[in-house]
Amino acid sequence: TTDVTPLDRDRLARLHEREREAFRAARPRSAALAERARAHMPGGVPMSWMVKWPGDFPVFVESAEGAHFTCVDGIDHVDLCLGDTGAMMGHSPAATVEAVTRQLSRGITTMLPTDDAIAVSQGLAERFGLPYWQFTLTATDANRHALRYARLLTGRSKVVVHNWCYHGSVDETFATLDDHGETIDRPSTIGPPVPVSETTRVVEFNDLEALERALAHGDVAAVLVEPALTNIGIVLPDPGYNEGVRELATRYGALLVNDETHTVCAGPSGYTGAHGLQPDLLVIGKSIGGGIPCGTFGFTADIADRIARSVELEDIDVGGVGGTLAGNGLSSAAMRATLEHVMTPAAFEHMVPLADAWADGVQAAVDRVGAGWNVTRLGARAEYTFVPRPPRTGQEAHESDDFELQQYLHLYALNRGILLTPFHNMALMSPATTAADVAAHTTMFDDCVSELFAGR
Ligand code: PMP
Repeated sequence: TTDVTPLDRDRLARLHEREREAFRAARPRSAALAERARAHMPGGVPMSWMVKWPGDFPVFVESAEGAHFTCVDGIDHVDLCLGDTGAMMGHSPAATVEAVTRQLSRGITTMLPTDDAIAVSQGLAERFGLPYWQFTLTATDANRHALRYARLLTGRSKVVVHNWCYHGSVDETFATLDDHGETIDRPSTIGPPVPVSETTRVVEFNDLEALERALAHGDVAAVLVEPALTNIGIVLPDPGYNEGVRELATRYGALLVNDETHTVCAGPSGYTGAHGLQPDLLVIGKSIGGGIPCGTFGFTADIADRIARSVELEDIDVGGVGGTLAGNGLSSAAMRATLEHVMTPAAFEHMVPLADAWADGVQAAVDRVGAGWNVTRLGARAEYTFVPRPPRTGQEAHESDDFELQQYLHLYALNRGILLTPFHNMALMSPATTAADVAAHTTMFDDCVSELFAGR
């Protein structure tokens, strides 16, 4: 490629310190709440990973609406994180709020179905082409249940996943490859029940030969994939890759599970629908409830039939698939309204061009300063990586990361009222995101890299 401007790490460290000070100075109320929060929550956060947000303490939210939120210090933010997809349809979309408000005074959870669940399952069947659906409260649980059914139906034990994948806190997925291509526990895995190599085989994304080797043992119940990786940066499939995965899973008797929780940014029927893929099971959560907790997995008629024949009625409540709150009235009302009125083809026609405009803005700035980074696009989502060419595997994406640089860029953005998805450099567009929101990011990013790569 062309000349790459080297990154001056001393300069980065100096600028980072300046931004940390600016962050503290601008947010006294978040600072005070963070201090109080430490009394009974370790790190002052409701969930441990939230300590990783850039800045010395998390931003406390006052309110969120559409594509913006206001923090307790009264600062308005363009939200390009959108709850890492939970709020992909915008914060508190009107149709969802209306349906949920109605349901709130009609009973939140009863362990009995409401008719909304019928409409949701029918809508999902039409959208994703799989006839049968079951509900959970998280995508994590939907993945967990999909894997349990796959093991039940195949009588096999192992799961195949991609290197550096993320599918929620599912035990079998916290696996990576060592230098010899062996499956090992992902670094920093917290208390795995057994060494993950007992349950899992890891293969690189875009490597069909490795997948065939993993399947050839004849002991694989399920291949659990994102059809494009989105949790280690975005890694797009080579032409024919997903079709090859389908063909190999079939040939070796494993069930194929597409986790569309993030890749639904590709269109109203996800990457699966946009590219005519044919998984045996499909998992999705987060966005389809407009932010109300929900998750679901769909499957073929053959699988539904085989499950019905293998699970005893008497023990069906304690089989390891379930959840007292699953399919509750509130969650079902939220999914119905969101799917019918918010997550529409028209919404994507608005969102996808905005993601392209965001990507164009980032790429232009990167090229102007010669940073040697690239931008990857996936429907309503885009991401930049600190290497000149898009990574083809999870490993390449993992190696391209630069934690300090990433924290700096995120903090610089936050200090100028823009929230990026944490842990990588990703932006997601909602139906409420505007061209002005994207332009604000473009200007901010251009200023940021100009200063970082001084003189360019
Ligand atoms: N699948 C994918 C692809 C995800 O990215 C995530 C969360 N980032 C999940 C599943 C799990 O979602 P949840 O945390 O809501 O259970």
